[in-house]
Amino acid sequence: MTRAKNTPATVIQFERSTEFKKILSERIEHYFSSKNISKAADARMYRKTIIVLTWLLASYLLLVLAAHGPITGLLFAVSLGLAAAGVGFNIPHDGGHRAYGKHPIVNKLAAAAFDLLGASSYVWHWKHNVLHHGYTNLAGIDDDLDIGGIGRLAPEQPRLWMHRFQQFYLWALYGFLPAKWTFVDDFRVLLRGRIGNHRFPRPKGKDLGVLFGGKILFFFLAFVLPLFFHSIWMVLLFYAISSAVLGFTLSVVFQLAHCVQEADFPAASAKEVGNEWAAHQVETTVNFCRDSKLIGWYLGGLNMQIEHHLFPKVCHVHYPALSRIVEGVCKDFGVRYTCHRNAFAAIASHYRWLREMGRFNDAAA
Ligand SMILES: [Zn+2]
Repeated sequence: MTRAKNTPATVIQFERSTEFKKILSERIEHYFSSKNISKAADARMYRKTIIVLTWLLASYLLLVLAAHGPITGLLFAVSLGLAAAGVGFNIPHDGGHRAYGKHPIVNKLAAAAFDLLGASSYVWHWKHNVLHHGYTNLAGIDDDLDIGGIGRLAPEQPRLWMHRFQQFYLWALYGFLPAKWTFVDDFRVLLRGRIGNHRFPRPKGKDLGVLFGGKILFFFLAFVLPLFFHSIWMVLLFYAISSAVLGFTLSVVFQLAHCVQEADFPAASAKEVGNEWAAHQVETTVNFCRDSKLIGWYLGGLNMQIEHHLFPKVCHVHYPALSRIVEGVCKDFGVRYTCHRNAFAAIASHYRWLREMGRFNDAAA
């Protein structure tokens, strides 16, 4: 057994790495070296960065300056929410994983797009890169599974009576995620010095400046500037709409990768995971719509999270090419590789998983 690295306070151990991870890494290295290409962003990524940022800026300006009624307001608010999700999927997620560029400053700048969207990129690093990526689908550690008791996403979580209906109501609550991050979660973890039960170093110096600077900038753009052109009720209403669209889109996409019937949920309480880390990542993660260029483009490769979890420092524009290599190695080593053919199948599987976790007499509990 090897002690997992880079953890704030956990003692979970994975099985020692076998040939699987070695062969996987060799084949991926061979792909990049044989084609003589970098693992970082390329022209496709720069083009996409310009397009999604322009979409975000145009939607914001239209909403603030050109919306003069419920129809145009709704249209621009929905567009803003979808554009914000597109930015989140594509730019700061790669930046936060240091997958955007070779230079740290490029990745820091890309990651800071989270601060522009209202969520601290510093807190995201600890919640997402460390706790979620390091300990995927391990209840009590993976922060993505902790939605504060309103939903039961893993067999080891306690079941409450209301979870019986979670397959119906959680979809609506996903819309509250960005507001919760912006106004509650970031400040709460900062005050407590903990994410869930796990300590993390509080931000200092520049990191603290970016956190508070981001919050002030977001508050100014979301509420202060629009107040010069619209009533407070209109500003709050259209903030709520765009924030709900953003939250719903982000949440559903992340849930389809891990909270589905085909994903594993090993027992975290046992302190030892009977799988090596790389195989654990593959079996706790599920892809969808692998062949859809449009979905892959918009989701920043988050429809191919198996490849993302195995190689988070590779820019997502390379995932489609890596996907066939990873699937082949998984087949050779008997590691289960799952991909839903379309989004409907993935959404249906998330619905069924929520229903299963909410049942009073389910066998998994
Ligand atoms: Zn990630």
